[in-house]
Amino acid sequence: MDWNGLYASRMSRVVASDIRERMKLLAQKKLIHLGGGLPDPAIFPYQAFADASAAILGDQQRARTALQYAASEGHGPLREWIVGYMASIGVPCALENILIVNGSQQGLDFVGKLLIGAGDTVMVEMPSFIGALRAFDAYEPTYVAVPKAGDPRPAHGAKFAYVGPDFRNPTGTTMTRAERIELLEMAEALDMSIVEDGCYEKLRYDGDPIPSVLALDIERSGDIDRSRVLYTGTLSKTIAPSLRVGWMCGPAPVIRKLTLIKQASDLATSALNQMIALDVVSEHLDAAVATACQVYRERRDSMLDALSASMPEGVTWTRPEGGLYIWVTLPPHIDGAELATHALTDHGVSTISGSAFYPVDPQRNTLRLSFSMIPAEDAREGIRRLALAIEKTPAR
Ligand code: PMP
Repeated sequence: MDWNGLYASRMSRVVASDIRERMKLLAQKKLIHLGGGLPDPAIFPYQAFADASAAILGDQQRARTALQYAASEGHGPLREWIVGYMASIGVPCALENILIVNGSQQGLDFVGKLLIGAGDTVMVEMPSFIGALRAFDAYEPTYVAVPKAGDPRPAHGAKFAYVGPDFRNPTGTTMTRAERIELLEMAEALDMSIVEDGCYEKLRYDGDPIPSVLALDIERSGDIDRSRVLYTGTLSKTIAPSLRVGWMCGPAPVIRKLTLIKQASDLATSALNQMIALDVVSEHLDAAVATACQVYRERRDSMLDALSASMPEGVTWTRPEGGLYIWVTLPPHIDGAELATHALTDHGVSTISGSAFYPVDPQRNTLRLSFSMIPAEDAREGIRRLALAIEKTPAR
């Protein structure tokens, strides 16, 4: 049987990600991994998980709920908690504005299903989160760039703009409040929506929090049900990614449509996971966020120090106020993908080439680094090796 002839045309755009392939390689070798980007499992709140699981499964009534199908919208008490959480970050909303999803990644897939028809235009930051691009790709959009400060506004719109305002993956950079308002004004002028990825919002290591684009839109319109912003949140970066508990927050009619998509896709997110998540966040979210911020702040600082100490002239990098990533711009003659291969095979340091994060017109002289799992000593050694690989790359 030749399955290749049967695949729908959209599958021609569904390709293995550079990162996943690289991770398979890394599993086999002892290297310094500056590419990764996973949260550090050493800081997950294990005791809280053990206590929550025992309490839920040890109580017959709760255990029955936990092992039954949950509602497609999500476990009611967790949605209630999320309503409170969203209010605490400046987004007053109600239960019907929240849908629980299997990680915000599923939310991004649902955005594609809801909004993208083949050939529709979607605006994305260049570079952008690769998981969002891969999710959207299956719905066959045409990509255009979100204009940068000072760029002229496009003459006509896209269906939506996808943005990660805080410490975005992959660059680590953050939109200022003025840029968020400018984005809202542009979206209004072009009559398009905004999909806001709030994945890293709580992982801020310095500076004051900036209200989300959704919060700013509600400040203007006064009502989430009139908002043009759909927000995705997650517990993956603060509590643990294996829960697969994320949420979407937006106007109630849009959440209703997304709930139908959720129902058709997988009926519901695991009730057990949602109940565990609720027990853990109710008691331990603040402490878990504080631990994550302390650990990742130190690692960010040691990687930034290592970059300053070792990088040759002509290399620049971002200085993130939070999140997990640093974006490196190499001298123009260096291709990040070639460098990443050569750094891995000859110098034993893994990085991710920046090209993969552009849906079109990649800026090739770029790399993404992550500090989330890298102790100071490895950061020094890994960055030293990377600097050596850069110095050994011949000018063309
Ligand atoms: N958005 C961004 C920007 C991410 O970096 C990630 C995870 N790497 C996700 C969404 C997906 O997270 P999850 O599905 O675990 O919520």
